[in-house]
Amino acid sequence: MDFEVKSDEITFKGYLEYHKGKLILLKANLVGLLEKPCDTCAEEFKMSVNEEVEFFISDGIYEDENGIELDVVESFDGVVFIEDLLASEIELIKSDYHACDNCKSSDEEL
Ligand SMILES: [Zn+2]
Repeated sequence: MDFEVKSDEITFKGYLEYHKGKLILLKANLVGLLEKPCDTCAEEFKMSVNEEVEFFISDGIYEDENGIELDVVESFDGVVFIEDLLASEIELIKSDYHACDNCKSSDEEL
């Protein structure tokens, strides 16, 4: 199942693949521009984003034949889930250290 979700200038596009049991594999690309304050000068700037996201979703608690629990998300509600995921990925990227182009180039001079 393909999906495509947009948030401002970010496109989150990928597919869901159903595996045995209740596992769903989500593979997607997060591409676009993200506006955030520079971590050096606090000036708003747009950074380009290109992230690959891949993980398993379980519809219910998942245990494999050996009783090993995988690192999975345990609730799945289609589009709502994907939109939530996009929002949390954006938050994750924003929380990393990112400097604007001005600060980046002065970093390189040091
Ligand atoms: Zn800056």
